[in-house]
Amino acid sequence: MTYTKEDIGKEIEELVDESGTTMNAKIVHVFCQVCGEEFIGTRRQAGGFLGGHECYHQWEFAMMHVQADA
Ligand SMILES: [Zn+2]
Repeated sequence: MTYTKEDIGKEIEELVDESGTTMNAKIVHVFCQVCGEEFIGTRRQAGGFLGGHECYHQWEFAMMHVQADA
């Protein structure tokens, strides 16, 4: 299921996907505070998006230091 702008705020009583069944799922709209990329999806997916960006930007930051040291 791909969620779009029209789905933001929707509450889904029972959401069944390949990973399991989520009760009272809510479609949220989040963005990364570092790069501004935005995501629309379930809270669980939004957590993955935010965590993924946090990890990615940490790596990016570490790489800047590697290049600065060289
Ligand atoms: Zn980001």
